Amino acid sequence: MSTTAKPTVKTYQNYINGQWVPSSSNETFAVYDPSTEEVIAEVATATARDADQAVKAARAAFDSGPWPETTAQDRGRILFKLAEKVRQNAAALAELEARNCGKPIVEAEFDIADVATCFEYYGGLANKVTGSVNPVPANALSFTMREPMGVAAQIIPWNYPLLMAAWKLAPALAAGCCCVLKPAEQTPLTALEFANCFMEVGLPPGVVNVINGVGEVTGAALVAHPGVDKIAFTGSAAVGKVIVKGAADTLKRVTLELGGKSPNVFFADADWEAAVDGALFGVFINQGEVCSAGSRILVERKIYGKFVEAMTEKAKRIKLGPPLERETKMGPLVSKEQYDRVTSYLELGKKEAKTATGGGRAKAFGKGYYVEPTIFYDVNNSARISREEIFGPVASVIPFENEGEAIHVANDTPYGLAGAVWTRDIYKAFRVVKSMRAGIIWVNHMQPTYVEAPWGGYKQSGFGRELGPWGMEEYLETKQVFVNLDEAPIGWY
Ligand code: ADP
Ligand code: MG
Repeated sequence: MSTTAKPTVKTYQNYINGQWVPSSSNETFAVYDPSTEEVIAEVATATARDADQAVKAARAAFDSGPWPETTAQDRGRILFKLAEKVRQNAAALAELEARNCGKPIVEAEFDIADVATCFEYYGGLANKVTGSVNPVPANALSFTMREPMGVAAQIIPWNYPLLMAAWKLAPALAAGCCCVLKPAEQTPLTALEFANCFMEVGLPPGVVNVINGVGEVTGAALVAHPGVDKIAFTGSAAVGKVIVKGAADTLKRVTLELGGKSPNVFFADADWEAAVDGALFGVFINQGEVCSAGSRILVERKIYGKFVEAMTEKAKRIKLGPPLERETKMGPLVSKEQYDRVTSYLELGKKEAKTATGGGRAKAFGKGYYVEPTIFYDVNNSARISREEIFGPVASVIPFENEGEAIHVANDTPYGLAGAVWTRDIYKAFRVVKSMRAGIIWVNHMQPTYVEAPWGGYKQSGFGRELGPWGMEEYLETKQVFVNLDEAPIGWY
């Protein structure tokens, strides 16, 4: 009587106007576990018609209520309840996140804790938004009101699925906007599970909708839709450019958090152990699938050889494994598509530079999109592996002779999301901080991210800022009100 046990394949629909609804075309798409390559869920595809329904629901909730009547204080309370739901379900959400995107469970647990913190932060900020009185002449009163932008379409990536949803939803709801969230088609599961609690916490129907499908169809329908006021996007620079063009016809407000090729700069006087660790952490955390990955490692010539050796020795000991094992420090890449993309860069890297370690598939695994942590060295900054975002566990190590050259190479990229500098010399550290053209700079660390501090890029890493009060600003309009206090006619005609 034994049958081979297949994991249950759960089915999900789209969440529109407070209800779970099937696709108008009845189509579904498969969602995978990248460590087994097995299907773990089937999700309803949102067609352009379904996207239209979601936007209409958000529009109605925004334009005619009850959301406009919900006080800022009550919006804050709803956000606190969302945080509480996340904390109550943290273990299950972390496990689902790790299974769906391949990240180590320990990292997924940090992500989910950050999700709750993000909702709490914006819950507290919801009723701190105030206008100002403007110093116009005495016979008038001018003040500013801050009003929600309206309906926000929020298109997010697969590397931090629920955390990116939180970074988008929390400030938008705090500001009083209504949302249509489109998770990445590779990793929609945690956002869909999360949507189950929206009614319970008192989010009225239509205030948050979650729709699924590939970017070119579902995402593009949102970008083109005249009922959408604002697009918030996190993803690749290539798609960011498509979105800006698509949003032009209706002049939607757009914020973009795109890719990077961030420099992680090491001077010879840096704390040795911390530096070697920081170089690896900067580029290999989350399998290198991080927009701010320190994928260009710039090392002062005096320590260069030894530094590459020390990094290599430690990188070889990084524990690859199934995402749900607690000792795992690196899981599989998210998808076959990403695996192919990264391994093609590995082939290129072997031609463009020298290989210190890695360079291919992690052979210990029969199944799953596992890639070895890879270090290329003697990389020329004009090489493609030094200029293009790989979004995988691939480091390009580049030597430099002096501070001036370090700064030049650090900035010699179309991107400007992040950068880091390691030294014990505070004069040098802050000179480099001032010279780097990037939105986030770390000194003697790389990657820590806090909800209280702004996140976003310079140059082709996008525009707008997330997190902190900056994140909520992006969902607010400014209305100027002029009140005439002078009862006499204008007297012009
Ligand atoms: P990747 O290349 O790693 O898949 P993308 O930038 O393509 O990263 O994806 C990030 C998000 O953007 C996903 O939710 C995806 O569905 C969406 N997306 C992709 N293409 C488009 C598009 N043309 N219009 C709108 N959204 C898109
Ligand atoms: Mg894509």
